[in-house]
Amino acid sequence: MAQVPLVVGLGVRNSIVSALLGKGSEKFNYLHRFLGRSIFVASTLHVAPYLHKYAIDDDFVAQLGKPVISTGCFGYIALILISLSSIPVIRRKAFQFFQISHWIGMVILLVSLSVHVPICLPFTLSSLSLYFLDLLLRLLFKTQNAFLGTPAVLLPLSDGLTTLLEIPSLTTGWRAGQHVYVRVFHPGMGLGKMWESHPFTIASAGAEGEGDGEPLRVFVKSVKRGWTERLFGFASDGEVGTGEDRMRFGGAKGGRRCRVLVEGPYGGTGNILFSSFSSVLLVSGGSGITFSLAQALSLQSKALLGLVRARSIDLVWIFQSEASLQAFMPYLLPLLNNASSNKTASSFKALKINLHIYITRPSSQFAYDPSLSTTLLPAHDHLYIHTGRPNLSDLVNAKVEEAAMEAKRLNGRGVNPCGLGIGACGPQGLVRSLRNVVGGLKGERMGEVGGVEVVTEAFGV
Ligand SMILES: Cc1cc2nc3c(=O)[nH]c(=O)nc-3n(C[C@H](O)[C@H](O)[C@H](O)COP(=O)(O)OP(=O)(O)OC[C@H]3O[C@@H](n4cnc5c(N)ncnc54)[C@H](O)[C@@H]3O)c2cc1C
Repeated sequence: MAQVPLVVGLGVRNSIVSALLGKGSEKFNYLHRFLGRSIFVASTLHVAPYLHKYAIDDDFVAQLGKPVISTGCFGYIALILISLSSIPVIRRKAFQFFQISHWIGMVILLVSLSVHVPICLPFTLSSLSLYFLDLLLRLLFKTQNAFLGTPAVLLPLSDGLTTLLEIPSLTTGWRAGQHVYVRVFHPGMGLGKMWESHPFTIASAGAEGEGDGEPLRVFVKSVKRGWTERLFGFASDGEVGTGEDRMRFGGAKGGRRCRVLVEGPYGGTGNILFSSFSSVLLVSGGSGITFSLAQALSLQSKALLGLVRARSIDLVWIFQSEASLQAFMPYLLPLLNNASSNKTASSFKALKINLHIYITRPSSQFAYDPSLSTTLLPAHDHLYIHTGRPNLSDLVNAKVEEAAMEAKRLNGRGVNPCGLGIGACGPQGLVRSLRNVVGGLKGERMGEVGGVEVVTEAFGV
């Protein structure tokens, strides 16, 4: 029973552990799951001998008349509901069912245990306090304009999959790598889906220190039959902005202005600051580009204030078809252009960004010719477009080589190298593979470059 407040405390968005370590509660979800499973095992060991005894005595129905037994049975049934709906395959395939079962199960469990035996009461009350404290914090401090919502622009992008959600009035208050929960409380989303809130990584750099930030921007990739697909349909059904507006957003037909509830920011890279590394590599798969985009934009603006150690960074983006290229290029090109145009704007050197794009399943017509410069794909010294899948091991090893050269240069000037920072965001498989590649690096090599640190963000729980 004493584990219940712990499991609740680790499951809420505003957990004490997250606040202390500066990481989102999703990073500690494995502890929440581990404790949840151990509660189920412990409860089964507690319940089974009683059931065995009642079966031998043949008086289960009579026993059920006693409040201590009936409340215990209700609590255990609730625990079965929570545990079954949390089985990974069910959780992934039916996330909303998992969430609703979790919520109903927890209410039944806590109410039943409160009256089961008096010793349970302090634990159920502390669990409820943690849960309600989290709700209060979310409502009062984490949700922008919690009652009316915040005006937003929704635009379906030309890849037919991604919705851009931009909030013009929010330009500060987050760090690169953080995410927000979005709820579109509009009947157009459908009666079920208008209540749902979903997490998305912020893709723009807010004002950090000096200067104006960009509006908060998230890119939402559609998942079949989910809230994200409905959002794309909802955005496509509208009509917003002038042709010029549309050009700016790189949107396809449609678009909509509406109010949304934005809760956050949550998460982040904790004590890892990319600006403090001598070399940086950012690897993204699909919509994981949002994480790298925000990091790169933030590093670029900090570099102009002299706050970034690295002289150049490499951003690798892997995705399936060139349709994504068309949709996202308007947001990526400023990274390349800022590096050249800002050279004169500051006494500090602009940060060079090498953009490596890998299209894994290009159409047969796709061919990139750097000599044929177009608005969408201009010839640029730091833009590299490849077809096929990259070899992650080669990518990391090449970056480690480069970091070792940079370390040599720094050592020559009497400066200690400050390591290689690697960020990876996207599907679980990509993130896991990259971790494995880094795990396989030789300790000696890592020491030469001043250490290698990895931050990963996988889109899924
Ligand atoms: C920290 C974080 C940041 C993310 N950032 C982005 C982003 O920038 N762009 C992007 O396109 N996607 C992002 N995602 C994934 C996005 O949240 C899911 O794709 C979306 O919630 C799917 O909802 P759905 O109803 O369309 O699909 P469903 O079929 O309901 O869900 C598909 C999968 O998405 C995950 N998911 C669904 N709802 C939630 C939820 N409320 N909380 C956590 N996970 C959920 C589950 O793993 C589920 O199996 C992020 C996820 C996390 C956890």
